[in-house]
Amino acid sequence: MAKEYVFGVDLGGTEIKLGLFNLQKGLIEKWSVKTDKRNNGEFVISQIAQETAKKAEEKHIDKNSVLGIGLCVPGPVDKDGLVRGCVNIGWGYKKAAEELQNITGVKCAVLNDADAAGLGEAVYGSGKKYKNIVMATIGTGVGGAVIYNGKVVAGSRGNAGEIGHFKVNINETEKCTCGKCGCLEYYASAVGILRFAKENLKNYNNSLINSFSDFTVKDMAECAQKGDELCLAAFDMAGKYIGLGLSYMAGAFDPDVFVIGGGVSKAGDVILKPIKKYFDLYSFNTESETEVLPAILGNDAGIYGACEYVIHKED
Ligand SMILES: [Zn+2]
Repeated sequence: MAKEYVFGVDLGGTEIKLGLFNLQKGLIEKWSVKTDKRNNGEFVISQIAQETAKKAEEKHIDKNSVLGIGLCVPGPVDKDGLVRGCVNIGWGYKKAAEELQNITGVKCAVLNDADAAGLGEAVYGSGKKYKNIVMATIGTGVGGAVIYNGKVVAGSRGNAGEIGHFKVNINETEKCTCGKCGCLEYYASAVGILRFAKENLKNYNNSLINSFSDFTVKDMAECAQKGDELCLAAFDMAGKYIGLGLSYMAGAFDPDVFVIGGGVSKAGDVILKPIKKYFDLYSFNTESETEVLPAILGNDAGIYGACEYVIHKED
C-alpha cells in the first residue's frame, strides 16, 4: 500500500502537539493534549501512540499507508537516536523512537526540538529558499539548530549548534540553567531580558514600565515600539549577545541565512535589528550577505520538522 501519511509530534513539558500530514497535501490537522508526566514521564510514549492511533481511526487511515511518526523532544538526542535526558519530562536516557516503533508498528524517528524547529523552518518556513540555515530560538531559554543541505547537523552527542550555552561572559558568577556561568541564554532569553529591565528600572524614571505592577517581554516589546529607552536598552543587550553568538555560528558554519524564532522573536524589529547590527559588528567577512529573518511557522515549526525528519530517515 502506498505511504501517504505522516505524523509529526512535538513533545513539550506542558503539552504534546501533534500534526497529521499528507505527503501531497501537507498538514491536514493539528491538535494538542496535556503531557502525562506521571512517574517521570513513563506514560508519554504510549500516550503519543494512542493519540496517533485514535486520529488514524477517526480519519479512516489504514496503518499500512502511514509512512511514520517523527517525534521531537526537549533534550539532546545523539546520532543513534538515543534521548540523553529530558528534564522537563522526567526522562533520563531513553530509546524513545524504538519504544514508540515497538508499540505502533510504524517507522519512528526522534530528534531534538530546536533541531526540529530549524528543520521545519528550513524546509517549509522562512529558510525555504536557502540551502544552509542556522536557527536560534529565543524563548524562556535559547536554543539553536544547524541545517545543512536540508539535513540536521546534530553532532555526535546532539550538542551542535547549542547557541544558548555559548560562553559570552567568562567573569559571570551567577548560574545559568545548565549549572555553569556566563551563558548567552542567561542574558538573551526572555528571563534574561526581564531580569535586565528589573535591575535597571531605577535608572529609568521615565520608563513606561514603571506603571506596570508586573510585566512580560511582550509588554516590553510594546513599550520599546513606543520608544521606551529602558526597553530598547534591554532588547539591545539581548541583541548584542545573540549577534555575538551568531558570529560564532557563522565562523563555524557560514550559513546562507539566520532564522530567529521563539516567543521573543515576536518583538519583531525591536529585537531583529539589534541582532543584525551586532552580528555585522562581530562577524568575520560574512556580514553583508548573511540575512537575519524572523521564523514564520511559530508553534508549528516542531511538528513540521519532526514530520520532515521521519520522511527522510533511512530505515
Ligand atoms: Zn548555560
